Amino acid sequence: MEEVVVKVGGSILTSSRDYMLAAEKIASMVEHGFKPFVVVSAARGVTDNLIRACEGNMESLKAVTQLYTEIASGVGGALRVVGELMGILSRTVEYEGYRCARSVRDYVLSFGEITSKIILAQALESVGVKTLILNAVDLIETNGVYGDARISYEETKLNLSKVAVYAREVEAIPIIEGFIGRGPYGSVVTLGRGGSDYTAIAIASLLNIPEVVLVTDVPGIMSTDTSISPRARTIPVLSYEEAIEASLHGVKRINPKSFEPIALSLGRPRVRITNWDSRGTLVGELE
Ligand code: ASP
Ligand code: MG
Repeated sequence: MEEVVVKVGGSILTSSRDYMLAAEKIASMVEHGFKPFVVVSAARGVTDNLIRACEGNMESLKAVTQLYTEIASGVGGALRVVGELMGILSRTVEYEGYRCARSVRDYVLSFGEITSKIILAQALESVGVKTLILNAVDLIETNGVYGDARISYEETKLNLSKVAVYAREVEAIPIIEGFIGRGPYGSVVTLGRGGSDYTAIAIASLLNIPEVVLVTDVPGIMSTDTSISPRARTIPVLSYEEAIEASLHGVKRINPKSFEPIALSLGRPRVRITNWDSRGTLVGELE
């Protein structure tokens, strides 16, 4: 059974239909003999809105709670838990307001990814995929830097290896939120904007999983900006070096730490950047 890390990006998560589509695509991978490890981002716009909420913008908070409540009501069984999560989120932000300390801010941001994970897990269950819901704060150890943490690879590898064995035993598909890690005294830290790609690549590298699929809203890394040239085409393959270079230049807003696990030779997974319907751009060792 071919193992693969599938990271579902926030750009393709805007409605309950999007979550159901993601669940169906993952279910079909399972049917085709793949064993996915699912990493999920917050729905589109949520992280930006939560940042604004931490600056005291209550409209942004409302936008998040409304969006997730609406999405959850279209995904069987998700509404009650999501309602509870949104309650805790609202009370935290209302209590902390614009005084949000850095640690509180990361805690608030984590609701974006955690809620998204609960909804996707529910969507997966509803299409017959048995899931094992994992918590990043328990497993992804970091250096504890709020807002821009770096994963502590050795400790994280130990944690993930145990979980992978357990997931195999119970025959469930592991699902975890990206972007989140464990900070000082078990607090929540975030890995920096676009950090879900970093989580996904780290998991594949540490567990020796041969491929990571970063599912996004474009068919791959484009040769030029589609808004500049209608002749922009998808680049089929890139070397790791080229991809690292591109991430440093902010291409597709890939977090520059994303390729670090590969640069450090912790693993050599192929990284496919794609939408649900194409082959995308494959980043890996060029032959
Ligand atoms: N939701 C986070 C962000 O928007 C992490 C991610 O999407 O990768 O930065
Ligand atoms: Mg995002």
